[in-house]
Amino acid sequence: MAQVREAAIRASKDVGFTRNPNLIPSIETMAATRGRCDACGKDPRVLKTLLDGRNVCRTCLRVLRPPRPDHLATYKQLDELRRKGLHVTLDTQKSDVPRLRRVARARGLGIRGVNEATTNHELDRIAAKRGGYYEFHSKIRGVSKYQSGVARCVKGMQLVVLREPSNPHDQNAIALFTPKRFLQSSKQVGYLSAELAVEYAPKIDRGRVIQVFVSQKTGKDKRTRGVNILVRERRLAF
Ligand SMILES: [Zn+2]
Repeated sequence: MAQVREAAIRASKDVGFTRNPNLIPSIETMAATRGRCDACGKDPRVLKTLLDGRNVCRTCLRVLRPPRPDHLATYKQLDELRRKGLHVTLDTQKSDVPRLRRVARARGLGIRGVNEATTNHELDRIAAKRGGYYEFHSKIRGVSKYQSGVARCVKGMQLVVLREPSNPHDQNAIALFTPKRFLQSSKQVGYLSAELAVEYAPKIDRGRVIQVFVSQKTGKDKRTRGVNILVRERRLAF
């Protein structure tokens, strides 16, 4: 095995592989091809293609990319960050990967002055300044039971969002009510869908504000009317 390793290192030097720690051989494709290894010259071998176009066998790849300690970013993460145009080195820490992903996203949005050294705190500040909402459309579930509430809904109305952790059917339940008006009590209209509830219940429980607006009433000629909604979440831009 040691001999194979020596041979691979020698061969990889012969074909010009560099041991510069900043140049991490990135794998272009995981699709296995067969043929001659560009590093050790053995044939046939199952090959992986490096970003620079060379095909190497698994033994040579292990020499070029030796196992990584747990506290460092994995090769997969390094490859991902490099694809996103970031300068990463073999010393990049695993704990730093989420921050670097944010840097890449911020750059993707065309924000200037953001680089590999930008801290999470600075990213938060820039993101908060940009503000921004995350919005999507959905429809209220369970409306057939709450038609008197539905009747009060008008387009543009902001509904009251209420968590129901003690709901026997779904502990993530998020109920929607009409707002309280002068001489008019609040009436339930229904619930957010179970799929949305799974996502948003923990967020609401942590204090995140979710806004829900009536975007459209449906079923004009039917006995049971429905309500389409716009869900808006304040979310950092990156
Ligand atoms: Zn090889």
